[in-house]
Amino acid sequence: MMKQLKNYIAGAWHSSATTDYLDVVNPATKDVLTEVPLSLASDLDQAATSASKAFTTWRRMPPTERIQYLFKLKTLLETHRDDLAKTITAECGKTLKESQGELQRAIENVEVACGIPTLMQGINSEDIARGIDEIMIRQPLGAVGIIAPFNFPAMIPFWFFPYAVACGNTCIIKPSEKVPQTMQKIMDLIDQTGLPAGVVNLVNGSKTVVDAMLDHPTVKAISFVGSSPVAQYIYRRAAETGKRVQCQGGAKNPVVILPDADLEMTTRIVADSAFGCAGQRCLAASLAITVGSVQTDFTAAMVETAQNRVVGNGLEDGVQMGAVINQGSCDRIASLIQAGIDEGGKLLVDGRNPQIPGYEQGSFVRPTLLQDVPPQGQVVTTEIFGPVLGMIHVDTLDDAITLVNQSRWGNMACLFTNSGAAARKFRYEAEAGNIGINIGVAAPMAFFPFSGWKESFYGDLHGQSQHAVEFFTQTKVVVERWPKEWSRQF
Ligand code: NAD
Repeated sequence: MMKQLKNYIAGAWHSSATTDYLDVVNPATKDVLTEVPLSLASDLDQAATSASKAFTTWRRMPPTERIQYLFKLKTLLETHRDDLAKTITAECGKTLKESQGELQRAIENVEVACGIPTLMQGINSEDIARGIDEIMIRQPLGAVGIIAPFNFPAMIPFWFFPYAVACGNTCIIKPSEKVPQTMQKIMDLIDQTGLPAGVVNLVNGSKTVVDAMLDHPTVKAISFVGSSPVAQYIYRRAAETGKRVQCQGGAKNPVVILPDADLEMTTRIVADSAFGCAGQRCLAASLAITVGSVQTDFTAAMVETAQNRVVGNGLEDGVQMGAVINQGSCDRIASLIQAGIDEGGKLLVDGRNPQIPGYEQGSFVRPTLLQDVPPQGQVVTTEIFGPVLGMIHVDTLDDAITLVNQSRWGNMACLFTNSGAAARKFRYEAEAGNIGINIGVAAPMAFFPFSGWKESFYGDLHGQSQHAVEFFTQTKVVVERWPKEWSRQF
């Protein structure tokens, strides 16, 4: 077992002042992997103090020098890719391939952030009046806080922190207390880059640390990813103290299948989207809307795919779907499946209480299909965050788009079709920030913003790429007059 986890503050590892530790458990085996401190406000205060002290010198380092640490980090992440992927799988439950994919996305964000010398350039206008120039420069904010959820322990902090530090900010990362080992190991790699003390700090814990971060006067901005109720809370409370804030929330993602869709490809993609990471993705397909004559064939194909999915310990070869995060999650998913049945849904494939040989104690739910779920029922209106696909049938694309747009979330919506006109209509009318046409949206590439609408996002600027650069910088406009004689007719 890895020893008790520590916090990384001011360039060194420190034990938290707390006596309160939580077991970190492998969801497939139920082995206790380590213990994570539920740190105190005083730990966060030390991290915030270290971050704001480091800011005074870090912001003065030229961007071309700052990114040298990111180049080193990219190499270290690549060198340690296998170990990190195994760590993700052990604490999070997803398959090794999924963990490797997640790490790849993290690395790509480092690569994009290395473009900061160009990305954070300002603009200027010469002669806004005779002899007078106006320029806009981008300057960093100061110390910023990053709060991550459990389902992507490596990737999600990288939507923010490479950009934050490349722009000249310093930061405090708080990983999910359910999966804290991954960032602990990544922090070790950050340490090996020789990054100056205090530029990146890591504080483990839960609500106490978050609240301390939200209230701390030297923390200037908050980036959050997690469930919608917590996103709303953080957005409100951070705004009260005048912080800049971006909060990505939960989701319920519809996929629409038209009769002219390529059925083999569609089934494979929808199954991957619904059951990848055991449905614990904010971009997972969770509602399939069939239109017209496609219903029978698509349903039959999905039943077969769901039944044949190989479920087990994500570390083992051939496993296509791993465990869900913990027993509480298993129970919650099972109760929502039951709610779907009680509401009149037809249980086509039941994934509850599976027996996975060798892992009888593990937190597993197999792929589940519920047909004809009522649009106002719980299966459609609740984020299940498990491998459960609700299915609804409608007659027209317009009916399908009406259903898509009924949702209070707007993270992702997909259409499967062979018709360019239908695709264009869907792209134009669907109320979601990430749209897939004949593809399940895994995650936008690092050089695009991670969009999200409605209750899936609170704020203006998203994570990744140019949005992150704008979020982590404030603009300064300078008007200058240098000629001795101004307003002179030259
Ligand atoms: P969560 O909201 O329970 O926790 C997220 C973070 O907030 C954790 O670090 C946690 O310690 C902290 N937290 C939890 N409760 C808190 C409270 N009351 N006050 C302050 N801080 C609190 O989310 P989770 O279960 O870890 O992650 C799953 C959720 O994240 C799902 O809803 C999923 O859709 C969402 N998610 C969204 C995106 C996106 O891009 N929109 C990406 C990944 C995950």
